Amino acid sequence: MMKNKSPKKQNAFAKNFKVLKLVFKFCPGLIPLAVIYIICAALSSLARVYLIKEAITIVLSGGTFEQLITSVVYILGLELICIFGNVLYEDFFEPRYRNIYIKKIQTYLFLKVREIDMLEYDNPEFYSKFSRALRDSQWRGFRVYRTIIDFIKTICISLALGTYIIITDTLLIVIVLLSSIVGLFAVNQLHKLWYRLWRETELEHRFSWYINRTFYNVRYAAEIKTTHVSDILIDKYQESVDSLENKTRKINKKMVPYQVISNVFDKLLAQGGTYIYLGYRLMTEAIKVDAFSSSINAALSFYNNFMQAMSTITTLQEHARYIDDFFWVINYTPTIEKNEGVEIDHIEHLKLENVYFKYYEKGDYVINDLSFELKKGQKIAIVGHNGSGKTTLIKLLLKFYQLQKGSICINDINYEEVNPFSLRKNMAVVFQDYQIYAVSIAENILMRKVESKEDEEKVYEVLAKVGLLDKIKSLKDGIYTQMSREFDESGEAFSGGEKQKIVVARVFASNADLYILDEPTASLDPLAEEQINKLILNTAFDKTIIIIAHRLSTVVDTDKIYLMKQGHFTEVGTHEELLELNGDYALMFNTQKQLYETNKENQD
Ligand code: ADP
Repeated sequence: MMKNKSPKKQNAFAKNFKVLKLVFKFCPGLIPLAVIYIICAALSSLARVYLIKEAITIVLSGGTFEQLITSVVYILGLELICIFGNVLYEDFFEPRYRNIYIKKIQTYLFLKVREIDMLEYDNPEFYSKFSRALRDSQWRGFRVYRTIIDFIKTICISLALGTYIIITDTLLIVIVLLSSIVGLFAVNQLHKLWYRLWRETELEHRFSWYINRTFYNVRYAAEIKTTHVSDILIDKYQESVDSLENKTRKINKKMVPYQVISNVFDKLLAQGGTYIYLGYRLMTEAIKVDAFSSSINAALSFYNNFMQAMSTITTLQEHARYIDDFFWVINYTPTIEKNEGVEIDHIEHLKLENVYFKYYEKGDYVINDLSFELKKGQKIAIVGHNGSGKTTLIKLLLKFYQLQKGSICINDINYEEVNPFSLRKNMAVVFQDYQIYAVSIAENILMRKVESKEDEEKVYEVLAKVGLLDKIKSLKDGIYTQMSREFDESGEAFSGGEKQKIVVARVFASNADLYILDEPTASLDPLAEEQINKLILNTAFDKTIIIIAHRLSTVVDTDKIYLMKQGHFTEVGTHEELLELNGDYALMFNTQKQLYETNKENQD
């Protein structure tokens, strides 16, 4: 677990440039466009300054009206071309490339998720890094790109203007640089405080988002209407907003002096200093009006751009914190989820020998010296109290985790050597917490796209098997009805029992050799549960089947029943053999039977 080392300590620039490289890798067309954009921005700034000088020079040196018009048209024409270039880039090319990047990076991350070892999901540190990376990747990568481009742009403009100032007046650059450095200190502190505010109130923002979700999500609606839980939630929400307000007030107070310093230095040193210095030079006739006007413009523009460039550095530092999470996921190397090893194309035989497994190093063994064998075509049930390790055993059969001791072999090949993806293709599993996706019924059953007429026929066939065909056929879009109304008004909402039948249909539609059903019928009524289990056992005779069941009456027909207790099997046999044994199984079975009969009598 967590064997992936933290990324090397790198400075904020290096980290941001790594993201920039990724953006350019996914969108190479952006490189020339970004270069043109920066050149256009620098040229238009220079043109603005140069026009003032040129116009005043013509007027003062007694030039003609035509000369004035020609200069204005040429220089403004150049500036306009640059501005149009920038508009085209910002409103057309960049949004287009932003979407291309987001699509590619999200797809890349979604595929990456499949490679993450199951154990990592139990690790809160990994999980929060991972969820942050996924959440942020929507926008962060391109924001980094934009920040770097803005940084380069403002630096280029500063360089162009700085060169202009140096050529016209060397001392002026000293004044402007000095005032920039002092102002920079205040701006930097302000950015740090903004960032701190954002970090410190992250929890409150997340909490208010959770409360928000609770009030609009249909899953909570019934309880919100029938209980007073909404009062608790509203109280908590108000507490959270109060805490947000407190933190904001405290940090805002700290911001005031820096706001004052920054403005004072901007007005007094940068603007005041420049006006006084250049005014003095004009009064002493060291420079003329044209140089006075253009230098003031150049100096103030330089100051603004330089400050903007410097404050972008703080933004880059902010990005850097998140970039770590992002590259953590990108550079993740799995222990189990690797597409390598012996390919499995069928299941003949499964054998577990003295298997020990625990989730945490310091925890107790959840699977404890467990051995058993399963041959093709066998139909077995695993029963036992909650927490006895049944689901964990299934997860081990799926190679979600590594064993601490013992071995699992498939067709005499050790799991260690087996390609996990090929292994799982041979298994159709229904988990207790199975999911229905906001896609069509057919896709929910096939768990892939419908590609042919045969696929459609297969969907109809399995729907008929689980007794849902008539209902689905009566829907306007039939098997193409979306299984959620969230994104499609013509979608259909299904009952818990119907959803379970769809999931069982999913198993029938697979080509798997081994069916694993982890209490798939929990929300069906006992009669329907019995029917479904019988259906699975009777129709899938060529399949190997493992059923985990709570209601023991539903598994009496299996070939063998394994009773699990504290991670190993304590009783094994047919239903009759186990009843005869008169152990834990018999006790559980008879208790359930009595309960069922009492309930039935009460209902009658
Ligand atoms: P069953 O399916 O028989 O109800 P499980 O296999 O789900 O039992 O759980 C067996 C034990 O393992 C329980 O004590 C449970 O708390 C623990 N357990 C299950 N999943 C995890 C997990 N992801 N992390 C840590 N402990 C777990």
